[in-house]
Amino acid sequence: MKIAAVRTHLLEHRLAVPFQSASMRFDRRAHVLVEIVCDDGTTGWGECLGPARPNTAVVAAYTPWLIGADPLETEKIWARLYNALRDQGQRGLAVTALSGIDIALWDIKGKHFGVPVSTLLGGRFRETVSAYATGSFKRDGVDRVEDNAAEVARYRAEGFHASKIKIGFGVQEDLAVVRAVRETVGPDMRLMVDANHGYDVLEALEFGRKAADLDIDWFEEPVVPEQLGAYREVRAGQPIPVAGGETWHSRWGMREPVETRAVDILQPDLAGVGGFTEARRVADMAALHGVRIVPHVWGTAIHIAAALQFMAAMVPNPVRVNPIEPILEFDRTENPFRQAVIKTPIEHEQGVVKIPSGPGLGIEIDRDALAEFRMRDD
Ligand SMILES: [Mg+2]
Repeated sequence: MKIAAVRTHLLEHRLAVPFQSASMRFDRRAHVLVEIVCDDGTTGWGECLGPARPNTAVVAAYTPWLIGADPLETEKIWARLYNALRDQGQRGLAVTALSGIDIALWDIKGKHFGVPVSTLLGGRFRETVSAYATGSFKRDGVDRVEDNAAEVARYRAEGFHASKIKIGFGVQEDLAVVRAVRETVGPDMRLMVDANHGYDVLEALEFGRKAADLDIDWFEEPVVPEQLGAYREVRAGQPIPVAGGETWHSRWGMREPVETRAVDILQPDLAGVGGFTEARRVADMAALHGVRIVPHVWGTAIHIAAALQFMAAMVPNPVRVNPIEPILEFDRTENPFRQAVIKTPIEHEQGVVKIPSGPGLGIEIDRDALAEFRMRDD
């Protein structure tokens, strides 16, 4: 079996109501899918985290090294592609584009052997995972306190037991938001906060100390990802566990945060860290240092399916009666193509998601949806 073609599919949807995190404004959803076709007709799908058009360009740059290669040789291909752009591309788009390719290759490998990727990774420790609802962004023209409290209450009514709130817009306002959410949903719902690196160290310390009584699971991306010393100060100086990792790429990007304990919870993204091939190494490294893993997820059902396959194979403590289980990030913001790109949507039931068990990623692509949401050139 040889790789015959590599294609990208740029998808886009203009949002009815724009929203923003502390670091980015969204007036549309745009994602790029990677399709790899083999000479025997086997097709694999992947997705890249980050800006869709630049990722597309980097996938195209890698393509000459892919054509004619054996898609089952995922490690060899990863090394060859990484090396191709290594001198100028050790982080960022060079790795996010490689991630989309690697996910597609593992999808092919699973289909070739007739097993889910999780089986290839060593076996399925679980068939379902709990999910947390990601939302609570700042929306144009509405009061954040009321808006976010109502939104998280809606997630609870849908059956979710956990939800993440966007902060990083200003400590006092953020505290009012999180306090209102906690009062609205009560003590039983797990809450996380994500500053999307909108704070500096002093703001992060103030927020963490003042939110100490609100029972927050984790404080995500308190400060900019380049400043690991600042991360460590935040971790040491306030009581909420610190999480981060969605912007750190490859084992080399993860090494210092793990070794220096800049975070309590590491959040590698399958579509950003380097695909299954690299995420496995990162998970091993985190386990070696006693750092908990919660994968970051943002994108379409292909991205979600990849995260689910990975999470199925995450090794629990084999002795403990109630081991700590991974939790799935489940984006609830407006994106009509998120689930439309596959024929059987990945949905939750009472906050629990079933892990697909079919070959590869366990999903089937709906090409009509790719055509419907295709990015236009305007
Ligand atoms: Mg985040």
